[in-house]
Amino acid sequence: MDFEFTKEEKALQEEVREFMKKESTPEMLKETEDMGDIYGGPEGRKIIRKMAAKGWLTPTWPKEYGGLGLSDVASYMIREEMGYHGLPFGFVAAHMAGPTILRFGSDEMKKKWLPRIASGELEFALGYTEPQAGSDLSALNLRAEDKGDYFILNGNKLFNTSCHIADCHWLACRTDFDVAKHKGVSMMIVDLKSPGITISPLITMAGWQTNEVVYEDVRVPKENLVGEKNKGFYYLMAALDFERMFPLGRYHRVFDELVEYTKETIVDGKTLSKDPLIRQKLAQLSTEIEVTRLLYYQLAHILDKGGIPNYQSSMEKTFATECAQRIVNVGMDILGLYGQIKEGSKWAQLKGKVEKFYRTSIVETIYAGTSEIQRNIIAQRGLGLPR
Ligand SMILES: Cc1cc2nc3c(=O)[nH]c(=O)nc-3n(C[C@H](O)[C@H](O)[C@H](O)COP(=O)(O)OP(=O)(O)OC[C@H]3O[C@@H](n4cnc5c(N)ncnc54)[C@H](O)[C@@H]3O)c2cc1C
Repeated sequence: MDFEFTKEEKALQEEVREFMKKESTPEMLKETEDMGDIYGGPEGRKIIRKMAAKGWLTPTWPKEYGGLGLSDVASYMIREEMGYHGLPFGFVAAHMAGPTILRFGSDEMKKKWLPRIASGELEFALGYTEPQAGSDLSALNLRAEDKGDYFILNGNKLFNTSCHIADCHWLACRTDFDVAKHKGVSMMIVDLKSPGITISPLITMAGWQTNEVVYEDVRVPKENLVGEKNKGFYYLMAALDFERMFPLGRYHRVFDELVEYTKETIVDGKTLSKDPLIRQKLAQLSTEIEVTRLLYYQLAHILDKGGIPNYQSSMEKTFATECAQRIVNVGMDILGLYGQIKEGSKWAQLKGKVEKFYRTSIVETIYAGTSEIQRNIIAQRGLGLPR
């Protein structure tokens, strides 16, 4: 089997790398870190527009909707490079909602939303979790009452990241209370500036913001319903499959910097890179990074063949996010007590990256579905084990 990129993909990779190196200015990196790899701040909006102008935000989409008609391998490669260079790579509109609209939305919906997403004009925020509905999303009960030409929405969402900077909410709500739980859910696109929406911050241990969002008599036009009413749970599951793919780029970068650090740092008269225990740990991690890349590009391959990865996304999400934790754990071992010192202190090593990503890596095995839930999916849908 040949895992090489094609000549065209390699040329694109070079072009993307040069672009990313130029665009990852100190201001951009600071904004990305502060915001937890979401975009929507002034720097993020600028770079997304530049990427969109090259077609790199939605490279796989048909040209009529602002794409380039490229392979998913090309799209995944662009995101991996973005992560490696410290830029935001998790786009709700371009990578989760957009592909779901492409598959299940009406022609009118595609024409209305997709070109605006592809041009970088709009970002969405994910609106799934509620206080009583996290792992079990079928328990969600934000109520949407059908009033003919519009819906009236009431209820609460929790941990809805990006709502404070995004334009629209990619919202799962309940349109039927009298059927089996998963059969009464619908998906809608809601303008986050609509009257009746209140967004309150929740600060995570990673230091960045997620939100509690309250809907009080919010009016949403019927044309914003995605696909068919009460079929939303199916669309939500597909959107989650698109979400559960994690380029390891930024942790790969931390790993590369750790390797360099061990080569340059002398302790007790010899470089850390000569320590047998450190060498064993780094060698193990480099193998795991390679395994993650293969799992990651396997998802692109499934998409290129017309499928939607399912339990395979869960495998990649779990392995990648847990590998990220192993990288920063080894970083803590190598740096010793210096590893706990934040960026800004004169004692901080590697600009405090290990300390920062140690905290960030913890929330990553929770959002987009916890590791336990991913393993349940792999057991049921991958291995055919009973629920
Ligand atoms: C930083 C952050 C950002 C987030 N961003 C978003 C967002 O933008 N939009 C959004 O909609 N949501 C978001 N979430 C919510 C996230 O998806 C949920 O927190 C997650 O799915 C877990 O749900 P829960 O918090 O309700 O925990 P629970 O579902 O209550 O789970 C608690 C514990 O029980 C375990 N558990 C639950 N059910 C099972 C089971 N059947 N088998 C085995 N173990 C089980 C879980 O693994 C977990 O350890 C975010 C969460 C965090 C922390």
